[in-house]
Amino acid sequence: MTKVKETKLIDCSCKICGKSFSNLMGLASHIRQIHSITAQKYYEKFYGKGYCKVCGNPTNFNSLSEGYYTYCSNSCMSIGTAEKRKQTCLQKYGVTNVFQRADVVEKTHTPEIIAQQKVSRKQTALDRYGVEYTLLIPSTQEKAHSSDTVDKQKAARAITNKILLAVHTTF
Ligand SMILES: [Zn+2]
Ligand SMILES: [Zn+2]
Repeated sequence: MTKVKETKLIDCSCKICGKSFSNLMGLASHIRQIHSITAQKYYEKFYGKGYCKVCGNPTNFNSLSEGYYTYCSNSCMSIGTAEKRKQTCLQKYGVTNVFQRADVVEKTHTPEIIAQQKVSRKQTALDRYGVEYTLLIPSTQEKAHSSDTVDKQKAARAITNKILLAVHTTF
């Protein structure tokens, strides 16, 4: 999958005097030297200010080519990228990946949704690993450690220790 970069500023010509440049670097120094304004002021004047996609707060200016930052903070960025991932998931599988969020799971624990989630989880595993069950994959096995299995493991380890100790004292 090729990632197409969103270009906000498409032309390299000065919107104030119409002079064209081969690149944005040339334009940036032109507006600074000839028009005595910063790239930010220029961008703001012709392309508008940037606002956080998540909370709507004003964002910082990045550069003439990038424009303003999409998000105002790291927390908004993580929300925004999670949302984006959900959208991609929706486009790809026709389901959103909501089951990972505890608050959503609680609201959506209807039998139909659980069934749908099982299908989508299976599908994701198939696509990603070529196996049908995520539980067969070591990394997800680790994540699946419930307190119950942890307790069982602790008990098993205690027994092993006892046996080892018994063996040790016998010989
Ligand atoms: Zn100019
Ligand atoms: Zn924000």
